[in-house]
Amino acid sequence: MSSQNDGIIVILSSPSGAGKTTLVKLLSEKKNFNISVSHTTRKPRSNETNGKDYFFVNNADFENLIKNNQFLEYAKVFNNLYGTSKKPVIDLLSLGKNVIFDIDWQGTRQIKSQNIKYKIITFFVLPPSKQVLFERLSNRDMKDKLIASERMKDFYKDVKHWEDYDYVVINDDLNKCYNEISQLIDLSLDKNNKKFYYNKKKISDHINKLIN
Ligand code: 5GP
Repeated sequence: MSSQNDGIIVILSSPSGAGKTTLVKLLSEKKNFNISVSHTTRKPRSNETNGKDYFFVNNADFENLIKNNQFLEYAKVFNNLYGTSKKPVIDLLSLGKNVIFDIDWQGTRQIKSQNIKYKIITFFVLPPSKQVLFERLSNRDMKDKLIASERMKDFYKDVKHWEDYDYVVINDDLNKCYNEISQLIDLSLDKNNKKFYYNKKKISDHINKLIN
């Protein structure tokens, strides 16, 4: 059982390009969440800093971290390996600090299956439309529209996992979406509020529009 003084885990997942990274940054700034910095074998983008956005490592280093049981979870995403180191996260949680994760559905599933004693709240973030998603993916410094097309294909696979999550939010307007997540976190933590419902029908209609 988690104690009142323990921190909580908030996980944000989404198909790439739904604007989740910005939401994670807002949550860390406005709600004082600590961002879990993952390790990855992916090459850094031009705007990324080692140790801040990710710890960029090679395959051999990543394999060593796996061997030494350093990861809380890890997964292969778009042909690269990504993983969350266990120790920094557990240290923060036990000090009563909240931690936010930007990880995919595979990692979320692994963390949820471990019966961790800390409270976990999971969010799946959706883009407002297929067009906006493609624009967001093409605007990255990936240059190549082909990569955006590949990631669109992954989008169709990833989006199927929305039902694994506590809440699903649509990122149409950044501030509105941030406020919705922030309120849902507060409501989940409010002991008097046993269950908070969201509109599942609206979400499944939206998903159908995204994938058809
Ligand atoms: P990107 O390469 O665009 O930064 O991230 C690609 C995907 O990997 C995103 O969906 C992101 O949430 C996911 N990801 C980032 N770090 C981790 C991690 O530590 N574990 C897992 N399972 N997924 C991660």
